[in-house]
Amino acid sequence: MSAEPAQSWSLTRVRCSSSPLARAWHGCTISLLAGGPGPYAVQVPDWVLAGIGAVAGVLAGSYLTVLAARVPGRENVLHPPGRCPVCGARLRAMDMIPLVGWLRLRGRCRSCHARFGRWYPAVELATGLLFVLMALRFGASPVLPAFWLLAALAVVLTVIDLRYQRLPDLLTLPAYPAALALLGVAALVLPGGGHRFLAALVGLAVAFLLFLLLHVISPAGMGFGDAKLSGVLGLYLGWLGAAALVAGLLGAFLLAAVTGLGLMAAGKATRKSLIPLGPFMLTATLAVITVSGLLPGPAW
Ligand SMILES: [Zn+2]
Repeated sequence: MSAEPAQSWSLTRVRCSSSPLARAWHGCTISLLAGGPGPYAVQVPDWVLAGIGAVAGVLAGSYLTVLAARVPGRENVLHPPGRCPVCGARLRAMDMIPLVGWLRLRGRCRSCHARFGRWYPAVELATGLLFVLMALRFGASPVLPAFWLLAALAVVLTVIDLRYQRLPDLLTLPAYPAALALLGVAALVLPGGGHRFLAALVGLAVAFLLFLLLHVISPAGMGFGDAKLSGVLGLYLGWLGAAALVAGLLGAFLLAAVTGLGLMAAGKATRKSLIPLGPFMLTATLAVITVSGLLPGPAW
C-alpha cells in the first residue's frame, strides 16, 4: 500500500458530465480534499449556482449603475446611496431594489420627473445574465468569483466607453490587484493552478505590450486607456491558455472592423469616425471565455 501523500488542500471536480447541458442540470461533485470524494464532498448543481449568479449579478448591476453614473465625473461612489442625477433627490429604499425600483418609478424621478434612462435596468439585466453565463461556464469552481469580477467590469466599462469614449483609470487600474488576488486564491486550491497563474501573468504582459505598441504607433487610433484595459483581459485569457489569448485579442479587432464596416455601409460612420475599442475588447474576451467552455477539457 502506497503511503498517503502529505495532506494538501486541493479542489477537484469529479463526476462532471462532459455535456454542458447535463452538467448544468446535475452539477459536479466537488471534493475539498485530494484523493477523491471524502466527507468534504459537496454537490452543487450548476442550475442552483446559476440562480445564485442571477441574484448576485442583478445586485452587482445595481451598483454598477452608480459607478457608471458617477465615476466619469469623479463623484463619490459610496454616498449618497441612491439619488436622482438631475435634481439630487434621494431615492427611497424600495426604489433602489434592482429592476423593481425602476419599474415602480416607471423610469422617472419622483420629484423632478426627469427620465432615468433605460440603460439602468439594461445594466442590471445584462450583469445578471453574464453572471449566470459565467456560473454555467465554470460551475462551482474557485475561479468563478474572478470571472464574475470580469463580467461586472465588462458591463460598467462598456457603458462608460459608449457614453463618454473613455475607460476610467479609477476602474481599470484597481481591476489588476483585484483580478490577481481572486485568480491567485483559485490558483492555490486548483490542481495545476500555479501553472495557470503563470500563464495568466504572461497573458497580461503580452496583451499590454501589444496594445502599448499599437498606442505608440498610432496614438489616435488606439488610446492608452485601451492599453491599460488590455492587461486585465490578457490576464484572464492567459489563464485559459495561449489559444484563448490569441483568439480574444484578434477577436477584438475583428469585431471592431466588422462593426465599423457595418456602420459605414449604413451611412452612420465614415473612415475617419473613431469607434471606441473597449466594448469590442470586452465582448471578444467574454465570447472566447464562453465558447472555450464548450470545448472538451477541464472547465477552468
Ligand atoms: Zn430628480
